[in-house]
Amino acid sequence: MKFKTLAVHAGVAKDTAYNSVITPIYQTSTFRFEGIGQTKGFDYTRSGNPTRTALEENLAALEGGILARAVATGMVAIQTVLHLLKAGDHLICTQDCYGGTERLLRLYTSLYGIEVSFIDLNRESELEASLRKTTKMVWIETPSNPLMNVTDIRKVTGFARNHGILTVADNTFLSPVFQKPLELGADLVIHSTTKYLNGHSDVVGGAVITADPVLADRISYLVNALGVAQAPFDSWLVLRGIKTLALRMKQHEENALAVARFLDQHPSVKKVNYPGLPGHSGYETAKSQQSGFGGMLSFEVDGDLEKVNRILSSTRLFSLAESLGGIESLICHPATMTHASMDPELREKAGITQPVIRLSVGIEDAEDLIADLKQALSA
Ligand SMILES: *Cc1c(COP(=O)(O)O)cnc(C)c1O
Repeated sequence: MKFKTLAVHAGVAKDTAYNSVITPIYQTSTFRFEGIGQTKGFDYTRSGNPTRTALEENLAALEGGILARAVATGMVAIQTVLHLLKAGDHLICTQDCYGGTERLLRLYTSLYGIEVSFIDLNRESELEASLRKTTKMVWIETPSNPLMNVTDIRKVTGFARNHGILTVADNTFLSPVFQKPLELGADLVIHSTTKYLNGHSDVVGGAVITADPVLADRISYLVNALGVAQAPFDSWLVLRGIKTLALRMKQHEENALAVARFLDQHPSVKKVNYPGLPGHSGYETAKSQQSGFGGMLSFEVDGDLEKVNRILSSTRLFSLAESLGGIESLICHPATMTHASMDPELREKAGITQPVIRLSVGIEDAEDLIADLKQALSA
């Protein structure tokens, strides 16, 4: 079946008790046994729950995996994957990753002795130079947050496979509508389902997906052992959100492109970071591995911090808030918000400077969004 059909149907209609068309919410912690070892496939909700299973089957189908596990947040999806490592192992991470990822990796370095190199994954020389005997994992996030740098997934996964190293791709920014990292050679995909997959800014969640049977067993074991699985009601919300994912992504992209073109012409804007603009450094790579450019962009303001603050506090439709991927448009200041926890030196090295403003372009009317930005830029 094709993607849009899977988004609506995969995992969904299995209620033989009452033939409900939509997956019921099994809001229960435990399930009755009929005798020793006799269950209907579920015994305890941390280990498994039919509502969550429906979501997991859907997520696996959309990313082209054999297994997905839905977990409580994007951060525990990342943690679960990091538990594939042990003390002394080395991880190579893209340098402009999500701020929370960088914070967690630093915590794992200090707590568990997991060693991390933050590099520009697109530079082969940096990739070669950072390689160690103990390197076990490469962490890809593309397009990156908030600068929208595009990493060539095939190149990095090819390099890693030649060295027997696992690759993980954080696919939160594009969703499987526009990018399928498993097909591009990644071993694992993680999501913050809080963002586009749920898409309505009313739940936090995460997911880990793989097409490898050995990793699938290990991830299942870890989600149960760590106790990080997503609650039934939250799972139901994410599954509900996914049904309109393809439609939403199309509108997010159309609006983002219109906003990017507007900003690109504006005299108060020094630079627009949107891979859908032909002048963007990642345009060609994006076209080779993505089927769309997504709804996220950032831009650099020509002016001081006061000017930046005036723009941030003058938008009326764009709410000044963290997070992204919901139907409503958001504006954010990465240096002091999403990336505040990041090591300042690394933040500067990655180019996440004070004049950078990030937009999560929603599905409102593009004309209204542009009018809002226009008045804020001249405030
Ligand atoms: C938000 C986000 C995360 C973390 O997800 P939570 O659901 O907030 O825990 C990880 N990666 C990216 C790219 C994100 O945008």
